[in-house]
Amino acid sequence: MKKFIDASERYFANDGFTLSSQVPDRNEIPAKYQWHLNDIYASDEAWQADFDRLKSLLPGVVQYQGKLASGAQNLLKCLKARDEIGIISGKLFGFARMHKDENTANTKFQSMTGKTEALLAEAGAVTAFIEPEILAIPEAVLNQFRQQEAGLKEYGFYFDDLARQKKHVLSQPEEEILSRSAEVTQAPENIFNMLAHADLKFPSVTDANGKEVHLSEGRYRTLIMSPDRILRQKSFTALYNTYNQYRNTFAATLGGSIKKNIFYAKVRKYKSTLESALEGDNVPIAVYENLISTVHDNLAPLHRYVALKKKALKLDTIHMYDMYAPLVAKVDFTTPYEEGLGLVRQALAPLGPEYTAILEKGFSSGWIDVYENKGKQTGAYSWGVYGVHPFVLLNYSNRYDDVSTLAHEMGHAIHSYYSYATQPYATASYTTFCAEVASTTNEILLLEYMLKITKDKQRKMYLLNQYLEAVRGTVYRQTMFAEFEKLLYDKSENGETITADMLDALWHELNVRYYGANIEIDKEIDVEWARIPHFYWDFYVYQYVTGYSAATSLAGQILQEGQPAQKRYIGFLQSGGSDYSLSILKKAGVNMASPEPVEITLQKFAGMLGELEKLLADY
Ligand SMILES: [Zn+2]
Repeated sequence: MKKFIDASERYFANDGFTLSSQVPDRNEIPAKYQWHLNDIYASDEAWQADFDRLKSLLPGVVQYQGKLASGAQNLLKCLKARDEIGIISGKLFGFARMHKDENTANTKFQSMTGKTEALLAEAGAVTAFIEPEILAIPEAVLNQFRQQEAGLKEYGFYFDDLARQKKHVLSQPEEEILSRSAEVTQAPENIFNMLAHADLKFPSVTDANGKEVHLSEGRYRTLIMSPDRILRQKSFTALYNTYNQYRNTFAATLGGSIKKNIFYAKVRKYKSTLESALEGDNVPIAVYENLISTVHDNLAPLHRYVALKKKALKLDTIHMYDMYAPLVAKVDFTTPYEEGLGLVRQALAPLGPEYTAILEKGFSSGWIDVYENKGKQTGAYSWGVYGVHPFVLLNYSNRYDDVSTLAHEMGHAIHSYYSYATQPYATASYTTFCAEVASTTNEILLLEYMLKITKDKQRKMYLLNQYLEAVRGTVYRQTMFAEFEKLLYDKSENGETITADMLDALWHELNVRYYGANIEIDKEIDVEWARIPHFYWDFYVYQYVTGYSAATSLAGQILQEGQPAQKRYIGFLQSGGSDYSLSILKKAGVNMASPEPVEITLQKFAGMLGELEKLLADY
């Protein structure tokens, strides 16, 4: 189903743990650090006028219902009308929602967001007839239409993609039953969310100085990175003991969610749930399987990293709760925003003058909302508005991570910029698979640049550690997640029942395999599967690994080859959603069907690890 909103990726990193009372009101932030949402609409009145216009457009689409097979002209007009609805929807929703994110307590924009959501649901219902009707047009007739009417050319990929998945579309009454079932089959995930994020209560823990800290899922991410080992250990034990009390319920929700996905895959006649999840973007199962086996072949550097951590932290035994501890003492990397812009500017120079000119435009023309203010949405995201320009929300607080986030989000933003400038609306939206490539390439280029210019040993160690943690968290850990999912679906498809004992045992075995013999795999970790929301989005996480690996490959090519690689890369950004992800990436110079990109990434990990080992040895 074609979506009307392209919120490309939204990434909410912080949980507000560091919020202090000194957070300013929005009106205290100078205008030059705020985004220009009036580039979308000059006023709320202009927004309202477009809202009314969208409403009035809906009956215009309905007139084509039942007539799409009657002629190329009707088909084209109907698709154009739907595109217009899509473009206006994107502007209406972007304006309301981003204003709301400026201060989530603002009721005016809450209500405008809500109104748009309701109108979009209506638009979705009104246009729901289009795809089934196109699918019902005999192939020969549709081909004739495409030859007759040049305007249909930009929908070529869309038609081909629909036809490819035709064999999985059921009869109209069956489709109706399936669509009505969605509300019911959503229950396992809803119950998981309620239990994990509303009902589950975590105890307080005390740090090394006896100070009490209240534990929450959001705070855990900060606590587990604390240099205070007692605090880490207590937080770890308290968090997992809490999950453990509900392990059977979590096993039931996860098991139910798996059964749901198996059900839909079966009735839609897929060979497996994995196949049904990957087929949307035409990704062969071999890509998924190769990923797991390539990581298996390259586990040795991760084991070495664990050993280094143990040595650097001067521990007799390293435990799971030590894995996120900083290897290097805190380094002062304070980077004011203007300085951060300079670093990103320099780091991305290898992408060429055209790219950096767009970057400059983004920096200076109101794309970015820089600082935190009272009530502002936490974390960071990039939001593309077709026909306007992309926007970036940050909560910049002068840390190195913030510079990296700036590079990352500008990667998404410029991807949207290029793709929207090049593609018609029909093929302008890129896939999740491609999205993280554009952002991570920038992150990697920034790191390479920082390593090049950094002479101070402490800082260098800090940067290497950042890199190693990124690969551990993104490539190794997410592959372990992907493998866990695959094993669970295989078992469930073979008729085995998903139980808490089975999940615990599987999770434990995988941790032993991935982290190796140098670390104590504490019993508490066995229930970690219970807290991962991504397991409710079947076969989703592997894209983090493919994205990171493709980005490593591309950044390497850009730095080594210069112009030819630069050109291919811009071509990738311009492609939007005009082809399948794997084909777009292949043209850019990276073949995700081969083990090479993952191998290159893990070799690089081993190389960086070697450097850190050397630095720590002389330290
Ligand atoms: Zn991202």
